[in-house]
Amino acid sequence: MTKIKRIALVAHDNRKADMVEWVEWNWKKLIKYDLICTGTTGKLVNETLLKKMGEEESNETISMKRLKSGPLGGDQQLGALISEGKVDMLIFLWDPMTAQPHDVDVKALLRLATLYNIPTAVNRSTADFMISSMLMDSNYKPILKDYGSYINRKLDIK
Ligand code: PGA
Repeated sequence: MTKIKRIALVAHDNRKADMVEWVEWNWKKLIKYDLICTGTTGKLVNETLLKKMGEEESNETISMKRLKSGPLGGDQQLGALISEGKVDMLIFLWDPMTAQPHDVDVKALLRLATLYNIPTAVNRSTADFMISSMLMDSNYKPILKDYGSYINRKLDIK
């Protein structure tokens, strides 16, 4: 990654209002990036950006890749994109008070974001700090651990 370019946005249902409000605050910054969203979050983010752009007569264009809805595989699609180096930053407003049917997918997504050292916000205040970081526009390269010895480990197979 040179500059942050591709930002993934995901919000659980009880956090979608927070995401919409956060996008309203940050829409001018967000439309500069390629956005990747799970299905329902993406729909709301797109509507919010269009509303704000309409209000301010902006003629920018929205770049958004919408994945499947999270519980229907969207979190896993996003995890796969992270493993392929196609996501630079993750804003994931997850709900700590409600059991999710796709809890294992949520865990897997957060695990891959950590494994690949993607800047990850799991609440609004961290998202605020990240979106206003001077590192957003600098040449920042996340350090990746070398998993070579793991890949080449000896397996006891007869
Ligand atoms: P959604 O998925 O944006 O399709 O609601 C979010 C999630 O992972 O729960």
